Amino acid sequence: MNPTERVFYNCDKCPAYCCTYAAIPVNKTDIKRLAKHFAMSPKRARERLTKKGDTKGERVLRHRKDEHFGTACRFLDPESRQCTVYDSRPKICRAFPDSKRCGYYDFLCFERHHQDDPETIATTWNF
Ligand code: SF4
Ligand code: SF4
Repeated sequence: MNPTERVFYNCDKCPAYCCTYAAIPVNKTDIKRLAKHFAMSPKRARERLTKKGDTKGERVLRHRKDEHFGTACRFLDPESRQCTVYDSRPKICRAFPDSKRCGYYDFLCFERHHQDDPETIATTWNF
């Protein structure tokens, strides 16, 4: 997507639904970038920061407990809801939602409007 194109979502107002996906896949380049960020070897980064995915050879980011969604990516700051490795985040995180709209954000706005609560973190969803 053209970075100058107008988008209809605001990640700063969102609790980061996209960072709570159970399986956020990473490739070798992503792991190398994270390894550099933490000044560790790619092998160590692969072991410490990722785990096996569902498909053969796939690696996904490790999660940790999250008060709102059960678990979330280990790099999500639980308070600010911001990515703590933003400049080193995986390719898939950079690309998402790859559209002018984010379905999660549309849902959030819908819930905030209907609950008349601009702060609510809508977690009772079932996509
Ligand atoms: S779910 Fe959508 S709006 Fe929320 S942080 Fe992710 S991309 Fe941004
Ligand atoms: S690396 Fe950052 S942007 Fe990607 S899922 Fe984790 S917290 Fe979200």
